[in-house]
Amino acid sequence: MITTKKDSDRVVFFDVDDTLLDTSAFAETARRAALELMVDNGLPLDKDEAYGVLKTIIRERGSNYGKHFNVLTKVVLGHEDPMLIALGMITYHNVKMALLRPFAQTIDTLIYLKSQGYRLAVISNGITIKQWEKLVRLNIYQFFDAVITSEEVGKKKPDKLIYDVALRKMQGNPDKSIMIGNKFKEDALGAVNAGMSAILVNSDIIEEDRDYIKKEQLDITIIENIGDVNKIL
Ligand SMILES: [Mg+2]
Repeated sequence: MITTKKDSDRVVFFDVDDTLLDTSAFAETARRAALELMVDNGLPLDKDEAYGVLKTIIRERGSNYGKHFNVLTKVVLGHEDPMLIALGMITYHNVKMALLRPFAQTIDTLIYLKSQGYRLAVISNGITIKQWEKLVRLNIYQFFDAVITSEEVGKKKPDKLIYDVALRKMQGNPDKSIMIGNKFKEDALGAVNAGMSAILVNSDIIEEDRDYIKKEQLDITIIENIGDVNKIL
């Protein structure tokens, strides 16, 4: 399909965590700092044990659940401990905010896409205000017209509904719209199932999935770095 810069129905959708910013790296550092202080102030575990318990809670409740430290004290002590929860939350928050930054090429890529006439939005499995908060703190919120989340839609990526809602909200044409994310199933397959193309970045995609892309001739491009988006779009 021939497109021009004037097509306003061309939308680039972004995942947030580990796509626009290096979430995994700062999250572990912040969690360990929080647990260290909680242990020093009476949480009766050693620091690695505490990290193990917290990771289990995060796996069960999801990384964007807001009360991991409440559950941690409840599991360990049998009741919630407000002082330890506050220590954990504030330490986690402060360390996270100190470390939060976009990938080096994120801003250049956003500027490039705007210059090519794309409209930009976010599709995220998470809580709407938390995802906006990250965009605001990174000072990249001005680039985005909308943030569509699983909280709002009631379904998570890769469910087709979240992509359909996002396309409708942005009045995007799926044939001319692209999803950029780091997870093969959630971001790439989900988008392709909704009729869009996809770009995988920072992914840890396995050989089997690469073969599947080839075999099914899926419209998924794998790049190493978000700065390489300008070679494709
Ligand atoms: Mg992600």
